[in-house]
Amino acid sequence: MIQVICRKETYIYNTYHMTKAFYPSAEVVSRREEKASNYVMVTADGETLAAVSEKDIFGEIKAEKPEKDIAGDPGVEKPEKRMLDKALYRQLKARTGRDLAWGILMGVRPTKLAIKKLAEGFSKADFVPWFMKNYLVSREKAELAWQIAVKEKTLFDKLDTKEGYSLYVGIPFCPTVCSYCSFSSGELSAWKDRIDEYLDALCRELRFIAGVSAGKRLNTVYIGGGTPTTLKSGQLDRLLSCIDAHFSREHLLEYTVEAGRPDSITKEKLAVIRNHGITRISINPQTMQQKTLDRIGRKHTVEEVEKAFFTAREMGFANINMDLIMGLPGETKKDVADTLKRIEALSPDNLTVHSLAIKRVARMNSREETGGCADIEQMINAGAKAAGRMGMSPYYLYRQKNIAGNFENVGYAKAGKAGIYNILIMEEVQTIVACGAGSVSKRVYPDGLIKRSENVKDVSQYIERIGEMIERKRVLI
Ligand code: SF4
Repeated sequence: MIQVICRKETYIYNTYHMTKAFYPSAEVVSRREEKASNYVMVTADGETLAAVSEKDIFGEIKAEKPEKDIAGDPGVEKPEKRMLDKALYRQLKARTGRDLAWGILMGVRPTKLAIKKLAEGFSKADFVPWFMKNYLVSREKAELAWQIAVKEKTLFDKLDTKEGYSLYVGIPFCPTVCSYCSFSSGELSAWKDRIDEYLDALCRELRFIAGVSAGKRLNTVYIGGGTPTTLKSGQLDRLLSCIDAHFSREHLLEYTVEAGRPDSITKEKLAVIRNHGITRISINPQTMQQKTLDRIGRKHTVEEVEKAFFTAREMGFANINMDLIMGLPGETKKDVADTLKRIEALSPDNLTVHSLAIKRVARMNSREETGGCADIEQMINAGAKAAGRMGMSPYYLYRQKNIAGNFENVGYAKAGKAGIYNILIMEEVQTIVACGAGSVSKRVYPDGLIKRSENVKDVSQYIERIGEMIERKRVLI
């Protein structure tokens, strides 16, 4: 077991996650010791792996000569803390012989820093070395963050962030629960007799949102979950008709339905989605290796993915996203190359390449269970190259805790096909009103302040307490 001992509470988050990133298979615990002799100490079985002293911090300050504005950077309280992270990074790097592609950036979204610097007038030539020097990020990742920030800014300039808003509708049911799932989604079989009641509550919440949002501009709608296509075609039609009846499309830029699991997609359901004018769908294989799909409990075949994709294309869907996960248990570089070849043959319009993130709530919850992630970097690079061959470029990026190899998730899209909602949920520049069990609404104020309101996760509770969920929204909106 590895112990991280910090002199201040505020040091714990970054130092814990950095240690975890350098030692992904180890159990890491952290604690505060006010009178500790070092700022941070990392030990394992009585052996010191790293110890950051005052002298180390002064050494970093001297080497960098920090800029005055460092304290204003998101996630960085004062130069001392960032210098401490840098000193610890260098010691753990020396100890393990490894580098982390995103350097000392732990909880901070890389594109947020890039967008901030873009607004301050930085050029790419200013930003890349600045990012590398201050946060020890690799050149490749610094360039990726910049490229995405430039793309996102172009989109933000077109969006109405004052009067505009987005709508999220959650359907928390799936055909089976994947072993890596950390969403609050339940198996459809457990809820099939209560879906109509769920839709009653959902439509009540939607009608309320439409009423209080009159005069605002609805920019994007995202129906996610879970798997919305677990609904029967009649139920799907009822939900989409409710949205049609109460929300104006005058300012709508994008309307997505996450079809997600191919074992839930039928021609009839796709026809319903098409008839309601949905512009974007997602058909998510995660991998095109049957042995992995069986292993992670997805209970569908590779052929079902291909069939669902071809059917959607034949029916005229012109913006289809596919999600892949790199670092799935037992997968090799060869498996990933084969998956990418099959995806390229389909040629979707968006490809989202995730690195496996393991959360405590998932059934698969240890790095050992995943078989490690030694080749994760080559896998995500292969994903980026395949996206490039399909004519796509990166448009959004986010990172999660306990993500394989401490890497990132990147969305790629062909020209004009970027998923706007995906960017909005990450960059928090527009209010997103969310309905359904387990959904979280975020109200973004003009000064950047964000207030949240959560719906209960449990489906029964959501149905029974729908009045209270609406009341919470009334307070938020
Ligand atoms: S399809 Fe997605 S939401 Fe459903 S169980 Fe799998 S990971 Fe979870």
